[in-house]
Amino acid sequence: MGAAPRTFSSTERKFVQNLRRLNLLSRSSSSENKQKARQPKPLPFAPTALTLLLTTDCNLRCVYCYSEGGDRENRTIPREAIQKAIDIIVENAFKTKTDTVYLTIHGGGEPTCAWDALVAAVNDFQNKAQAAGLRHATDISTNGVLSNMQREWIVKNMQSIQVSLDGIEEIQNKQRPKADGSGSYADVMKTLRYFEEQKARFCIRSTVDDISPSAIESFVTELSRFSCCTSIHLEPLFFCGRCKTSGFAPPLAESFIKLYRAAVQKADEMRFRVWYSGVNAERYKTRYCGVCDPNFCLTPEGHVTACYEVSSLDDPRAAYFIYGRYDPNHHHFILNEAMIRELQKRDVKNIPFCSNCFCKYHCAADCAAKASSPEEINNDRCKINRELTMDQIVAPLMKALSETSDETF
Ligand code: SF4
Ligand code: SF4
Ligand code: SF4
Repeated sequence: MGAAPRTFSSTERKFVQNLRRLNLLSRSSSSENKQKARQPKPLPFAPTALTLLLTTDCNLRCVYCYSEGGDRENRTIPREAIQKAIDIIVENAFKTKTDTVYLTIHGGGEPTCAWDALVAAVNDFQNKAQAAGLRHATDISTNGVLSNMQREWIVKNMQSIQVSLDGIEEIQNKQRPKADGSGSYADVMKTLRYFEEQKARFCIRSTVDDISPSAIESFVTELSRFSCCTSIHLEPLFFCGRCKTSGFAPPLAESFIKLYRAAVQKADEMRFRVWYSGVNAERYKTRYCGVCDPNFCLTPEGHVTACYEVSSLDDPRAAYFIYGRYDPNHHHFILNEAMIRELQKRDVKNIPFCSNCFCKYHCAADCAAKASSPEEINNDRCKINRELTMDQIVAPLMKALSETSDETF
């Protein structure tokens, strides 16, 4: 005779209900969740989203800039290459029966510094999508040092806006000076106030160096006063590009963890959202970002890269991420199919180092550009990702416990 099924006390049932209410327990089984996480991306490669790293030019000289914006030869993607790329995503939308195409305007330089090219690219995208009967969405990442005319245009033409701002005035001016060495804080705040007046929602992207917890708390408080600011995305500074000459270096993992906890605590008090890309205990996935689709992203020189931070052939990571180029003589793109297949293989299931990591289906092997090689990982970020994922698991558990009578525990 088998043992009688175990019955649960009312306290145990309440504890489980509290975990479910806090989204810590799913009604589906963990094997279903793993199955969900393991579903592969559909192949073959047929992007319906285009990203433009429009120009190498920039009006700032951020101390850690991965592309050394403003210091490289001034290049902007030729309009013809952008038009051909738009044709490709529109055609793919038909092939894959997708009703929306996407255009992302990203850094690598400051896109608004190539203003005419930016306006032309967005107009071409909107016109071609409309002519094809497709819905279209645009988003932009900008440093926020803009003219009034540029602010107005962005509000009218961009569905999603991300502005880079690293902290309170002293920190922003130190880390993100203008080309003439003066501070950029006042200009960025003017932009944010304009977006607020126009009720245009925006999020903030902050690169964090080793700063004091009180500085990050003041920053969160300052931004939480903007009703249109949806979140602050914090990332630890990564050693690359201009770090080699500015002397800036990433914060220690312990320092970032401490700062992030201080920011989250302050954000909770202000009913605001702070996040970091390596941590999301509610998310199940095996691929970290669009690098594994791969992204269809044009560099200022007309190359096609999978990674937003690898835009030049001089970058040693180009051999893994840059998988094609626009051929102006024959008016078409040449793509390396073998490289595309290799990029599509980047999945946490294929990375031995991650196999026993408790947060592998949340972290999904982290940012490939910040690993020492495509198959390896960055130990400092691992430490951050694991500790902060653990925070997200433990905090709701403690809350569920505190809301549960302890009569049977
Ligand atoms: S990080 Fe962006 S804003 Fe700063 S120098 Fe580089 S391209 Fe310009
Ligand atoms: S690999 Fe990292 S840097 Fe490159 S696109 Fe993905 S998240 Fe961005
Ligand atoms: S924390 Fe490190 S080991 Fe764990 S999944 Fe992320 S990259 Fe892999």
